[in-house]
Amino acid sequence: MPYRSLLRTLVIMLLLQACKTPESSLVLPGEAPKPVKNIIFLIGDGMGLPQISAALYSNGNILNLEQFPVIGFHKPYSASGIITDSAAGATAFACGIKTYNGSIGMSVDTLPCYSIMEELKDRGYATGLIASSTIVHATPAAFVAHQPIRVFYEAIAADFLKADVDLIIGGGKRYFDRREEDGRDLYKELKQKGYTVSDYYKEEFPAILPPPKHPFVYFTADKHPLTKAAGRDYLPDATNLAVSFLPRRSDKGFFLMVEGSQIDWGGHSNDGNLVVEEMLDFDQAVKEALRFARKNGETLVVVTGDHESGGLAINPGSEMNNLQLAFTTNGHTAAMVPVFAYGPWAELFSGIYENTEIYYKMKQALGIADTAISSVK
Ligand code: MG
Ligand code: ZN
Repeated sequence: MPYRSLLRTLVIMLLLQACKTPESSLVLPGEAPKPVKNIIFLIGDGMGLPQISAALYSNGNILNLEQFPVIGFHKPYSASGIITDSAAGATAFACGIKTYNGSIGMSVDTLPCYSIMEELKDRGYATGLIASSTIVHATPAAFVAHQPIRVFYEAIAADFLKADVDLIIGGGKRYFDRREEDGRDLYKELKQKGYTVSDYYKEEFPAILPPPKHPFVYFTADKHPLTKAAGRDYLPDATNLAVSFLPRRSDKGFFLMVEGSQIDWGGHSNDGNLVVEEMLDFDQAVKEALRFARKNGETLVVVTGDHESGGLAINPGSEMNNLQLAFTTNGHTAAMVPVFAYGPWAELFSGIYENTEIYYKMKQALGIADTAISSVK
């Protein structure tokens, strides 16, 4: 009947009209993707694609890293040249700037930069730093300290006193309590500031959560902690402890940086076993981060390396679980480094970008993005 077909045409027209909403109104202010609450940022020092591959093929072809749905690559070069060191690499992640090799949280003009960890602390987030090296070593240091040269360990330790990090786990106790450059006892000063302070000499790594009313420091060694093979085993436990502890320190959210520090040292010493053992330990920390993020639903997990170390190759003659590893250098190389992301806003991390962009992407995910400053070319 003509009447019916007219009615049908009208209904279809109305439906089409309803669907033709202009693009700009598709995302209403109320519907904008929710900022992520927590970020767990895991850095494998010296962890390039060969290190990941060597660990994978030495571990029955299984890694926790395989569970990440989004993967990208960053360009790790620094302001010093195509090969970065860990200080410039960590400063790029922490502050979003390319700087010179050796700089701890400072620009090429040796001006201190405002790190993502400092900013989040100021915004009321809880913060945590975990490393399997000393806590004053370049990678963790760049998130809270500002020193022109990375080996100023005592000065870096003093910077920790100003940073109010909620959770600190790593080696380097001697730079706090047996300082040569001044008479300060930073171990005592941390206590005076309200920290629960403990160390490997006093007790085993805590099996129970320290009281969340106080910030917490645990020194895992006097200088550098042992290698995994020699008995160090706290990195996954510390990660697990941190994700229980930090949410109790702030309702706003937390930022946790976990470093697998000694993968790099396997590259420097051209020791394939060391690379693989340290990689697998780091992968266990990644597992703990993922476990928390899956349950929590408001946590972004980002995993990357600062650079590749050793020019590692998996040579002909290799078989699954029996690799012929070779190195081209005892330094770092310039190869791009993979980035793995899981959780809300993970898609931001796909593609190829500067290492400095990781800082901006994390801030964007947190909903505190400012104008991205184009990176130094
Ligand atoms: Mg490091
Ligand atoms: Zn290195």
